[in-house]
Amino acid sequence: MPGDMQDWDLRVSGLIDHAAREHGNREIVTRWADGAVTRTNWAGIRRDALKLVQALRRIDIYPGERVATLAMNHGRHLAAWYGITGAGCVLHTVNPRLFDDQLAWIVNHAEDRLLFYDAAFRPIVERLLPLCPKLEHAICFDSIEWGMDFDAWIACEDGEAHWTTGCERSPCMLCYTSGTTGQPKGVVYTHRSQVLHTLAMIAPSALDLAPRSVVLPIVPMFHANNWGLPWACAASGAKMVWSQTNDPDALCTLMREEGVTHVAGVPTVWFSMFEHLERTGGELPPIRQVLSGGASVPASVVERLMRAGVRVVQAWGMTETSPIATVTYEPADWDGMTFEQQVAVKSSQGRPLYGAEVRVTALDDPNRELPHDGDTSGALQVRGPWTVQRYFRAEDDAVDSAQWFGTGDVATIAPDGTLHLTDRTKDLIKSGGEWISSVELENAAVGHPDVLEAAAIGIPHPKWDERPLLAVVRKPGVTLAAADLQNYLAGKVARWWLPDAIEFVEELPHTGSGKLDKKALRRLYADYSLPA
Ligand code: ADP
Repeated sequence: MPGDMQDWDLRVSGLIDHAAREHGNREIVTRWADGAVTRTNWAGIRRDALKLVQALRRIDIYPGERVATLAMNHGRHLAAWYGITGAGCVLHTVNPRLFDDQLAWIVNHAEDRLLFYDAAFRPIVERLLPLCPKLEHAICFDSIEWGMDFDAWIACEDGEAHWTTGCERSPCMLCYTSGTTGQPKGVVYTHRSQVLHTLAMIAPSALDLAPRSVVLPIVPMFHANNWGLPWACAASGAKMVWSQTNDPDALCTLMREEGVTHVAGVPTVWFSMFEHLERTGGELPPIRQVLSGGASVPASVVERLMRAGVRVVQAWGMTETSPIATVTYEPADWDGMTFEQQVAVKSSQGRPLYGAEVRVTALDDPNRELPHDGDTSGALQVRGPWTVQRYFRAEDDAVDSAQWFGTGDVATIAPDGTLHLTDRTKDLIKSGGEWISSVELENAAVGHPDVLEAAAIGIPHPKWDERPLLAVVRKPGVTLAAADLQNYLAGKVARWWLPDAIEFVEELPHTGSGKLDKKALRRLYADYSLPA
């Protein structure tokens, strides 16, 4: 027999309709690069998004077409997210930190005809236009000096329009992974996958979002779906605070002035934030919660945040999982735990949300499942309704017949489901037939009070296959010696994990999304010879 409930398609336009209807006055604040602060609210974002729908129709951009953005975090970009998806088009967020040839490849592969960009990225757009023959229109979000600007472009519309309706399984967004091997791969999200991800995200055990929440996403809007925050904040009626730049001083001021409760960013954000606070003698603004993801967050950072009274939610996921699959929610016995045990829980990669399943398999056999004993590490696989099935324009599925997707990460899973990421498959250091986790080595090094950042890579070794080299950025003004750091590490990791060499460097290379760029580091040390 058929069910008798109303058959509504889950589309992201429903989220902004809800936000405008139920939380219309909740503010959306932007701090622009020049320091100016502007305000709108969810009702204003919806109005601008509907005007954008009309403007897209005016220039014959049709449902299903990709529309790109090359921009940092701000309210106009947010309106564009809802306008582009509300017109039935596919929002394609492009990472401006990529090289020109990667950018051109992505824009051409996506066949973007229209691009919205920040004035700061105009030089990139000028270089891209001749390389991307299908790119017909470029509209600037925040300036009218060159071409057309966003506000002027939508100003002639009245917003009296309707969203494009359609099936919840139609595409709404496209993100490319950074393409660590080969060309970047596109992940096309559906309206349904985004709405389901949103519902899981806002729960108290996950991000705990509510109308009282004030959310500052430091993670850029072009990175991995901006962790679903633009959708989740609309669904929960949270206030959003955006900053076009990531200067720690400006961010701290913004947190204080706007009463920010939730901050989301990759761990490097906290390294620079703490460094700034130490230098200026300032205190962490009174935030309630930090969402950390994209890379493993060292226990020392978790501890520092928790001591300041902040709830830390570490999330693991990837572009292919929309991106959040596991979070460090508090287990049932949380209140009986010691502080150290609680820090350990929050320093793990957490447990799956409803909607994500994980397992580990043998590194050399993706079909041989390994036990969830907290000890046996293997290749991490994931599946669920917001995990990728097939990459954009690929001929084959990216998953096996049971829909397991190989993440390229190496992990253990404890009997209670807690995930511990050991490394990425390609970053593991193979020494004497055993594996050394570069991530654990780095996290141990960052625990030293004089270390700002550290990265470990394997260097070829005649006897052991590979041995670790640790590249370290010291905090300003300290004189930490390699031998002292070795002594410190000796108490933290197995003896045979200790790096064969420590190199102190001014800075480490990072990817476009702010993570350590091990590929670039390996290139840098390609001819390195370890001390005998
Ligand atoms: P990119 O490959 O461009 O960095 P993603 O943002 O999709 O793209 O990166 C996903 C990867 O980031 C994961 O496969 C994992 O290696 C790493 N990652 C994400 N979250 C965490 C976390 N909490 N701890 C450790 N690593 C993480």
